[in-house]
Amino acid sequence: MSASRNSVPVTIAEGDGIGPEIMRATLRVLEAAGARLTPEPIEIGERVYLRGQSSGIEPAAWDSLRRTKVFLKGPITTPQGGGYKSLNVTVRKMLGLYANVRPCVSYHPFVDSVHTTVDLVVVRENEEDLYAGIEHRQSDEVYQCLKLVSRPGCEKIVRYAFEYARTNGRRTVTCMTKDNIMKITDGLFHKVFDEVAAEYPDIATNHMIIDIGAARVATRPADFDVIVTLNLYGDILSDIAAEVTGSVGLGGSANIGTQCAMFEAVHGSAPDIAGQGVANPSGLLLGAVMMLVHIGQGDVATRVHNAWLRAIEDGVHTGDIFSQKVSALKVGTEGFADAVIERLGQEPTKLAPVRYAGGAPMTAAARITPVKPASKERVGVDVFLHWRGDPGTLGAQLSSLDGDGVKLTMISNRGVKVWPEGIPETFCTDHWRCRFESAYPGRPVTVMQVLSLIMRIGNAGLDPVKTEHLFLFDGKPGYSLGQGQ
Ligand code: NAD
Repeated sequence: MSASRNSVPVTIAEGDGIGPEIMRATLRVLEAAGARLTPEPIEIGERVYLRGQSSGIEPAAWDSLRRTKVFLKGPITTPQGGGYKSLNVTVRKMLGLYANVRPCVSYHPFVDSVHTTVDLVVVRENEEDLYAGIEHRQSDEVYQCLKLVSRPGCEKIVRYAFEYARTNGRRTVTCMTKDNIMKITDGLFHKVFDEVAAEYPDIATNHMIIDIGAARVATRPADFDVIVTLNLYGDILSDIAAEVTGSVGLGGSANIGTQCAMFEAVHGSAPDIAGQGVANPSGLLLGAVMMLVHIGQGDVATRVHNAWLRAIEDGVHTGDIFSQKVSALKVGTEGFADAVIERLGQEPTKLAPVRYAGGAPMTAAARITPVKPASKERVGVDVFLHWRGDPGTLGAQLSSLDGDGVKLTMISNRGVKVWPEGIPETFCTDHWRCRFESAYPGRPVTVMQVLSLIMRIGNAGLDPVKTEHLFLFDGKPGYSLGQGQ
């Protein structure tokens, strides 16, 4: 790597499985292309986990990351079970990498793909949603995972998607949510999307429910340009989009924060082919191209990307994209890197060449509109009980605990109202949401009233496992009704 005066320090972790092979090939291409980098290697992943560090990263590695603020990362194996936390999620959250940018492009007719004209970018929220990793077991039968969605989190990612579209000459941003079901959390994402969209009249917008949206990405990907969505949906969607372009091994990915950025491949550590020298290094190499653009080395990024396109166009393919129909030469990881290096300085002749002018940081100051505090009034509480029996019996027992300004108004089981007036067909588990509301309409409920209710429930020999307070925000309920209520 050229260690000239203007070379940029970059933290590098080769990762697990195929990580070391594809990182070696990627760094070889970058060096041959004249990338001005000073690599700072750190060790993360499986070996660190197995040394007993449950986060998968040593404290000293954070010093390098916080100093360089640029991270090129190989894929990581998360050992199953054993309390190991996903290192990818930890790094994204600790460094505030709120935007995951995953371009998916088809290279027809040079790579055999289900669809021939794909050129879309998934901009995935990277810090919130079900990936907050807050899970609990609450009864013999029921386990929960909290889905947390914040207004600043939505605004940051939606604004990033629009800014990305504008900077990269994209025309349309599609928002995907499931707000027909999750009206409060996904509903917030959609609402913030509409608000931010109004500031970008030059960009066309639309909204799709995620299930039909994902089906359309699989069947008509050419209809999409930029897609912005929540964390879990974006994770699934970007794998679908990468796969329909030919191979998950082709996708590069950038994780962007306000100060730091991490670049990687979309795929994982592929333990099934590790050590065989056959992995496709393209995902990591295209992640590295985004990194070069980010650190202002657009000239090198252009050289590498065009040489890569030329190798693909010449039919030099690794096993995952090799096909008798379209490929000319089957190569391994190193052979593919050699083919790219041989073509440095050349451009594709049929695929469109790329041009990255000087390059520009992908990090973006996250403009967040301050949220005006609402007038907030506690009007009740949902008490979740671990209990086994029939709803009528539970309703009668809990109603006898009414008093001190609160009364039982509804019991639901897995969200479906079962008391009063449920129907016998509803399947019930051992986990009941018991809604107590103010006995006097218009009169708020205090924390002390809630605590005294919990004590009455405990003294009656019942087992409360969780409470959720019910609030009105500026007079509007901040909670959902039971299904059937
Ligand atoms: P995977 O992406 O590693 O592999 C899925 C399939 O794609 C496998 O058949 C594999 O051989 C193939 N494949 C993946 N990359 C390839 C490449 N570059 N060239 C050729 N073929 C390739 O997904 P998985 O098997 O579900 O996960 C394996 C491990 O990776 C797990 O521990 C998972 O937690 C981890 N993972 C890490 C990341 C990351 O570090 N960002 C992302 C996803 C999964």
